[in-house]
Amino acid sequence: MYDVLIVGGGPAGLSAALWLGRCRRRVLVCDAGRPRNIAAQEAHGYLTRDAIHPVEFLRLGREDLVRYGVELRQLKVEHAQAAERGFTAALADGTEVHGRKLLLATGVVDEIPSVPGMAEYYGRGVFHCPYCDGWEVRDLPLVAFGHGKSALGLALSLKTWSKDITICTHGPANLTATDRQRLRDSGLVLRAERIGQLEGSERGLERIIFETGQALTCRALFFNTGQLQRSDLFKSLGCRTRRDGAAWTDHRQRTSVPGLFLAGDASRDVQFLIVAAAEGAKAAVAINRELQDEDRGERRPRRQSAEAVEPAGTFG
Ligand SMILES: Cc1cc2nc3c(=O)[nH]c(=O)nc-3n(C[C@H](O)[C@H](O)[C@H](O)COP(=O)(O)OP(=O)(O)OC[C@H]3O[C@@H](n4cnc5c(N)ncnc54)[C@H](O)[C@@H]3O)c2cc1C
Repeated sequence: MYDVLIVGGGPAGLSAALWLGRCRRRVLVCDAGRPRNIAAQEAHGYLTRDAIHPVEFLRLGREDLVRYGVELRQLKVEHAQAAERGFTAALADGTEVHGRKLLLATGVVDEIPSVPGMAEYYGRGVFHCPYCDGWEVRDLPLVAFGHGKSALGLALSLKTWSKDITICTHGPANLTATDRQRLRDSGLVLRAERIGQLEGSERGLERIIFETGQALTCRALFFNTGQLQRSDLFKSLGCRTRRDGAAWTDHRQRTSVPGLFLAGDASRDVQFLIVAAAEGAKAAVAINRELQDEDRGERRPRRQSAEAVEPAGTFG
């Protein structure tokens, strides 16, 4: 029996494991090895680790756990369920593990628009987060890809990093007359032609070729078309969900299921490495406090509904 099972070994899961290891808890981290930012060439904005390679970031995170005896298994958790004393998880190798508490730090998956070249240049010219990658392409010709108000919002945001912004809607723009006026007032250019493909070199994205054959110079394309939860475990465990479909959590990362916690991108708050790590740390403290209470034979009253946290907007 582990004290804590952690599903997901990204920054959220590793950070929680680090703190729980320091609390002398017996911890197992299971990770399927599909970190969200694996396509990125550099990860930005994590204090003291700015511009680090994502793989190196995770290697350092795992290295931090060694001295605390945290166990790591490179395995997917196929299924999890509440049990008499905590939770049972079925791993991809057919084994079953048990934990008093369960933390889901399973992340999300980005829906990359299905345009030829989009997946190829994802992470090296095609991005979704101006905060993560805008500085590297400052003052260069940029494209905001999408439809309607969300594309306009993205384009307006990109003006922080460059004056040269084109909105490419790859078909009908779905903009109101007011939106179009805002677009003109902000000096944005609109291209509604369908995109044939993205082109570039080993240095990254260089241009967009429309189906008409016309080319548009573009050093980075940003999109905000959507994302999915990487794992459905929160649903099968019976977590209450919010309007956006993510699991509801309180400000201590507790879900509506007693003993079950959720942290990182999966909680759909601001999606940065440092926020995921911070949510992991918060979950660790809340988990440890519950375990301390239980070890003393006490139970802390839950007052979570009044403390509900709605999403603050997602970036990253
Ligand atoms: C291209 C790109 C660039 C980015 N750049 C930046 C940046 O520069 N700066 C920044 O701060 N943020 C950046 N981000 C965002 C950042 O990657 C995320 O905020 C961060 O990775 C979230 O951490 P996490 O631990 O919640 O999830 P993840 O890092 O996605 O880790 C979740 C882990 O859980 C595992 N998992 C899921 N389900 C299971 C299961 N059932 N069993 C076992 N394991 C499972 C996955 O395999 C994965 O390894 C970027 C994202 C992308 C896509």
